[in-house]
Amino acid sequence: MFDDINDLYQQVILDHCKKPRNFHEMAQATRTAQGHNPLCGDNLKLFLALDGDVIQDASFVGSGCCISKASASLLTDAVKGKTKAEVQAIFDQVHEMIMTGKIVGDVGKLAVFAGVYRYPARVKCAILSWHALIAAIKGEDQSVTTESEKN
Ligand code: ZN
Repeated sequence: MFDDINDLYQQVILDHCKKPRNFHEMAQATRTAQGHNPLCGDNLKLFLALDGDVIQDASFVGSGCCISKASASLLTDAVKGKTKAEVQAIFDQVHEMIMTGKIVGDVGKLAVFAGVYRYPARVKCAILSWHALIAAIKGEDQSVTTESEKN
């Protein structure tokens, strides 16, 4: 059963799942990372165009469940124009929210994932693109899997 807020969140997730934003490869990417969640079968590749410390552009390709696609879609929108330090801070907020349901600070549209903690099987789907993001920021052509991670 869902209350009105959760209903709205679900609609946003469905919308981003059916029409993912920034869903394309990026020739001018300076960083990429692969993310794989074997429990669900989610596979995605994240592309970042960094100019110094600032993410000028972000995109992704891949296949997976609705939650993983919507998460990557909202992520790529959320990180454009942000610095690496800002992105790390957003990651910490989103990670806390997805794991516990607690919203800390202003997470904007990413709040749609606040209910995911109640579905443990979906947590890794929601966090996958965020781990790929951090891997991409740390180095080129990184690969992450949710199974190397306790969360
Ligand atoms: Zn999934």
